[in-house]
Amino acid sequence: CGIVGYIGKKEAVPVLIEGLEKLEYRGYDSAGIAIYNNNDVVVRKFKGRLSVLEDHLKEEKIPGSLGIGHTRWATHGEPNDVNAHPHTNHTGDIAVVHNGIIENYMKLKEWLISEGKVFVSDTDTEVISHLVDYYYKGDLIEAVHKAVGRMEGAYAVGVISRQNPNQLVAVRKDSPLVVGVGKGENFIASDIPALLKYTKNVYFLEDGEMAILERDQVRILNEFGQKVDREIFEVTWDV
Ligand code: GLU
Repeated sequence: CGIVGYIGKKEAVPVLIEGLEKLEYRGYDSAGIAIYNNNDVVVRKFKGRLSVLEDHLKEEKIPGSLGIGHTRWATHGEPNDVNAHPHTNHTGDIAVVHNGIIENYMKLKEWLISEGKVFVSDTDTEVISHLVDYYYKGDLIEAVHKAVGRMEGAYAVGVISRQNPNQLVAVRKDSPLVVGVGKGENFIASDIPALLKYTKNVYFLEDGEMAILERDQVRILNEFGQKVDREIFEVTWDV
């Protein structure tokens, strides 16, 4: 299971696929991506090897320089196309990738259904996309912050939104996630090898922290929403 994310000037698809390849060693049963493309968030996800997704993306080119990618190791809901990540809210505006387990997803799901949200998958993860949607009032950072406040369990999460074409928001607790810092481009990944082709400068996120990636800057906030000053770590080894 693994997460990657990209915001920059390059085409996102090849960067995400390459990153996911580097995370294959972690094991997975499905793979998917979400790309911000022309005022839309395009999601493609398939059960099976990464090559199934890759073959599809050779046929269907999805331009865009902001995206998230995922390899899934199913914990809640069988491996199939619908349960594969990214997961979205009902409008498809918000896309989420998640590694880990949301322990209180059942309670959250019941509540969100009572609020009119319509679920399509059997995953615990889908509550995150509906939670972010529930709290979204135009500010993605605030919506993710509020959503995280409701979530119990372990998670590394990447979120993009159709209304926020210049932002990638990531949070983690008890699941790994690193931020790669480039020039005019920034990255997230579950592990450093997925980043090394592009940058050796990384931020390690502590439990409960959020990273806000834009093309020219990365901000880190603690669980209270306060800015954190983190030193860049320079990776000195090669893959
Ligand atoms: N619990 C989530 C699911 O089953 C995420 C699994 C993972 O870490 O890949 O979809």
